[in-house]
Amino acid sequence: MSKPYAEVIGDPITHSKSPTIHGFWLKKLGIDAGYRAYHVRPGEIPDYCDMRRRDPDWRGCNVTIPHKEAIAPVCDTLEPATARLGAVNTVIRQVDGTLLGTNTDIDGIEAAIAGVELQGARVVVLGAGGAARAVFALLANKWCASVKVLARTPEKAERAARECKLKMKALPFTARSGAFKGADLVINATQLGMTGQQPMPAFVLEELKQLSPGALVFDMVYAPLETELLKAARDQGLRTSDGLVMLIGQAATAFERFFGQPPPRDCDDELRAMLTA
Ligand code: NAP
Repeated sequence: MSKPYAEVIGDPITHSKSPTIHGFWLKKLGIDAGYRAYHVRPGEIPDYCDMRRRDPDWRGCNVTIPHKEAIAPVCDTLEPATARLGAVNTVIRQVDGTLLGTNTDIDGIEAAIAGVELQGARVVVLGAGGAARAVFALLANKWCASVKVLARTPEKAERAARECKLKMKALPFTARSGAFKGADLVINATQLGMTGQQPMPAFVLEELKQLSPGALVFDMVYAPLETELLKAARDQGLRTSDGLVMLIGQAATAFERFFGQPPPRDCDDELRAMLTA
């Protein structure tokens, strides 16, 4: 007898940490279901979705680079925030075989910045790509006092924020923008500081000194886990949140929707140790 399963799709896909996370939770809960990585190349999304629609054992999939935008129009329904954001990171197969597209990165970000009262907060976002758009979708209805986005291409940030219905100010990614002064939350949604990528520019580390004393710095990068940005924030006594909080948070929402049970979050320390071993 076949058993229920979910999977993560992308190109490439072997690096994905999702099978480790979902496999860990399935085992902890004793659920007899599978979770695997499945290689889907650009252009194969419509055929892949047709095939999975007909498979009653398939609960859905997580979606990673480069398919997050391409899969959105193939879904039968998109949740409202996902439709604004234009990127799907989780597809759920409904009982009638239709596909619901959602974006649990928003939940992951919400978990990572849970320590900040967003209403009235002054927020700085670095970047304007896919992950930044999820931040924009989250902040759109939170009544922040200000959202300033430092982007290499400010027009791209403005377009993304307009589509996500977020009021913000786009600034060039340069020193002395004034964006950091008195801010309560900084979110890095670029790959700056990631292993193999360019380092976070020194001016960003320097300008952390201008944040409000209780500010939180959240870096989406999780390789390395302790980035220069987080280290500089900690050295100043600021609160920090790392990329694994988001990664595990987005996976938790998807897991519950695939398998009908929340994952055992009291085991997060063990999971984090496994992911960073
Ligand atoms: P993306 O769509 O490629 O966007 C990357 C953004 O970074 C773009 O706005 C890009 O600017 C900007 N950027 C790149 N190099 C830059 C530089 N030298 N100076 C200034 N800006 C620069 O990528 P993404 O999917 O949004 O991912 C962004 C980061 O978030 C990655 O590190 C990814 O691993 C991480 N992430 C983490 C999680 C998690 O669960 N922790 C989830 C999703 C993503 P342009 O717009 O000008 O190209």
